Amino acid sequence: MPQTMTSADLRTHNQVRLLRAVHDAAVPLTRAEAARVLGIGRNTAAALVGELEQARLLHEVPAETGGRGRPTTLLVPHPEGPLAFAVDFREDTWTLASVELGGAITELEGGEHDRTPHAFTEIRAAIERHATDRLAVVGFATSGPIRDGRRLHISHLGWDEVDLDVLIGADWPETLVDNDARLAGLAEARRGALRGTGTAMHFHIDFDIGGTLLLRGDAQRGAHGIAGEFGHMPLTGSALECMCGVRGCWSLDVGANALVRRFGARPGYVEGRDFAREILRRAEDGDPQAAAALDANAAALGKGLGALANALDPEAISLSGLGLDLIRLRRDLIESACAENLMAFRRDAPPQILPGTMGDAGPLTGAAEIAWDALLTPDRVKNRLQGA
Ligand SMILES: [Zn+2]
Repeated sequence: MPQTMTSADLRTHNQVRLLRAVHDAAVPLTRAEAARVLGIGRNTAAALVGELEQARLLHEVPAETGGRGRPTTLLVPHPEGPLAFAVDFREDTWTLASVELGGAITELEGGEHDRTPHAFTEIRAAIERHATDRLAVVGFATSGPIRDGRRLHISHLGWDEVDLDVLIGADWPETLVDNDARLAGLAEARRGALRGTGTAMHFHIDFDIGGTLLLRGDAQRGAHGIAGEFGHMPLTGSALECMCGVRGCWSLDVGANALVRRFGARPGYVEGRDFAREILRRAEDGDPQAAAALDANAAALGKGLGALANALDPEAISLSGLGLDLIRLRRDLIESACAENLMAFRRDAPPQILPGTMGDAGPLTGAAEIAWDALLTPDRVKNRLQGA
């Protein structure tokens, strides 16, 4: 027998859509605007909002109308509603934040760590210090691929197949973990430069380059959650062997390590980032050796983007990390190298290459988004309404 939707299911479906609209909006929605976005009548919207208010999922406050027009209300997070926590775990630091419906982030705590899995014990303690009964889900951003969502590979820390179920023990609140470059892309698609795009790509450039394909505001994860290792495709013809085990990876030509190597020094993970910045400064001051290294990096970036655009046809590509400097200093070179690698018939409509707007907050914002994705499901919302 085909499954039919009951009127209660339909109600929950619309409640989830309403919460989603409030969460995704760039600025707080009025109740009338939310009704328009959902394509429902004002009375239906008023009833849905009333139920969500009772379940402490949404709150209505009077909107400023400047004395003109019908008085209306703004839909804002309920002051006693659920909260997500977001963690940005980097190679040397971590940050913990609390995130409301709508995406407002409050940083709670952060610090350096000793580059061992002990860092997770510190983060767990911080979550406990700040948690109240409003905490519902934790979203966690970490560097490196995470196989099957559970096995962590952070080559710069020497972590190989580290079991997240051991690090994130049974005493943690429900926790969703994803890769930082993918989460930075998700943040751009939901709240940054790629908002509203259908097919887009985001690349974060640090020591090397990582990225994600974004379809209608969601990041593609692949069969084992490890899609998006675009940096480990041989897009630019390098003859070197990469630390991933493949020869000729794109990452050997783009990023801080590639800049340092092109400059004639040995890439190293500790000071490599600062040294790369120094090379960019020298290039800006006209040092020819530094300028050549920067040119090579920008050209390799553009070539790879062109090759990927042939395969995936993104309407826009955003960049973060060192990518922002590369756009600022060598936009023309990136675009011409990209065009050179585009199939001829595509060259009159190349993908837009944009600076990301989330900055350093990208991974944390993306972590908050996956936590809220887990909260804004029909089952969760139904449970909450039934408990009200
Ligand atoms: Zn590689």
